[in-house]
Amino acid sequence: MSNILDVLLQKKPVVCDGAMGTMLYALGAEAGQCVDDLCLSRPDLVRQVHRDYVDAGAEIIETNTFGANRVMLESHGLAGKAREINLAGVSLAKESAAGKAYVGGSVGPTGKLMAPYGPLAVEDAASVFEEQIEVLAEGGVDLIFIETMADITEIGAALGAAKKVAPDIPVICQMSFAQEGRTMMGLDPAGAAKALEDLGADVVGANCGAGPHDMWEVVRQMIQAASKPVIAQPNAGFPQFLHGRLVYMANPAYMAEYAKRFVEAGVAFVGGCCGTTPEHTRAIRAAVKG
Ligand SMILES: [Zn+2]
Repeated sequence: MSNILDVLLQKKPVVCDGAMGTMLYALGAEAGQCVDDLCLSRPDLVRQVHRDYVDAGAEIIETNTFGANRVMLESHGLAGKAREINLAGVSLAKESAAGKAYVGGSVGPTGKLMAPYGPLAVEDAASVFEEQIEVLAEGGVDLIFIETMADITEIGAALGAAKKVAPDIPVICQMSFAQEGRTMMGLDPAGAAKALEDLGADVVGANCGAGPHDMWEVVRQMIQAASKPVIAQPNAGFPQFLHGRLVYMANPAYMAEYAKRFVEAGVAFVGGCCGTTPEHTRAIRAAVKG
């Protein structure tokens, strides 16, 4: 479809960045704070995380806009700043990438359950995602990353929104799978891959979840079922409380070992989610491109 996706696939495997949120907490963001709003209030922190990932060898970095949809921002009393936050998010990422990495616009869930299980109607979700993605496109993202989605209805609404308001931008769709290898709503990886392709995703895959080991099985099933390129961005293991702090157990070498396995199995895009750091990205890059 698009040139950018073709160009990226020629460099396969493509190394994506790691976590944004957990990095911002490590740099001093407070628990419960809206990390997306840091695009406006602490652009220096967001820029620092982006630059560290670019220096570590990430070929794609994602904007700090994961929770910057109107519904999620409303829970912080920030719904009126949605446009400003998304535009700032794109410009910080582009400035930090400085032509050395592509910029993916991050789109996360609304945080509300979709009808018929919850209060959010599909058409309302669609309009929330259209608003956010339109601004990300206006800012000039190269790709759209729809991620950490547990409900195929919600990711479908976001993907449909992207195809409507930004039809020329490739869309990467990532769902999250729990430890038993199914989404919260019970969908298995092969079913998710096929459903996302049917809905028009350009790249399908998984992110976050229960660490690289659990993702290995998810990824294998997705590769078998998918005809589109596959992406895997695990978190750094299941977080555990140690001495009162949330700690992610997967060190860079462990993540890199799995990244290599993913790529050998056919994964086209590999990166990290919660708990991963630029050190993880550096190790992944060395393992899959070395
Ligand atoms: Zn995550």
